[in-house]
Amino acid sequence: MPQRGDVRAAVRFAEAHGDWIAARLRRVPKRIEFRPGAVALVRGAPHPIVWQASARAVPAIAPHPDGGMMILTGGDPRHAPRRVQEFLRREAARDLERAVDRHSRALGVRARSITLRDQRTRWGSCTAAGRLNFSWRLIMAPPEVLDYLAAHEVCHLREMNHSERFWALVYNLCPGTDEAEAWLKAHGASLHRYGVGGDGADGDSDAGLSAGEAA
Ligand SMILES: [Zn+2]
Repeated sequence: MPQRGDVRAAVRFAEAHGDWIAARLRRVPKRIEFRPGAVALVRGAPHPIVWQASARAVPAIAPHPDGGMMILTGGDPRHAPRRVQEFLRREAARDLERAVDRHSRALGVRARSITLRDQRTRWGSCTAAGRLNFSWRLIMAPPEVLDYLAAHEVCHLREMNHSERFWALVYNLCPGTDEAEAWLKAHGASLHRYGVGGDGADGDSDAGLSAGEAA
């Protein structure tokens, strides 16, 4: 219901249209929590989340006994979902800092800061002051997609628009731009099913990474 809506009217609506609401909810893709036994995505590849009593509480990527890789975690299993999500955020920060650094050097520009957010509507943004924002969920996409987003926002440090000159810079830094855009269009929304969050608004509670580390 709308934020300023009438609660009683909403309840009446829900009571009258229960079947319709239930049918809608069945079509919403299931949320995938980062619990032991679930399969997370890291850099585009499935990583089962495995809890072991002997493992460290801080999650780490390790080879899975059955092949492929897994996220291994120990400690109190009730805290595993939060720990795994924080771990993925840290991995996202690391990959994005590296990619922004590489593209910034190539373009001769410098970002003032890099901040991770959890916005539903955008994967990245660049302010006039040169602050770059990215969704931490990009760590779940294939590496080329994260790299493209980094290139895209770095190019805004030179061109604060989506002009032909801007896109020429992007294609120069990232020849796989079209493929990355197509991937986001086809699969981007599915990344929001994972973990908790999707703060909707702006994610201002998110901790920022300092500028010095970025450039
Ligand atoms: Zn843009």
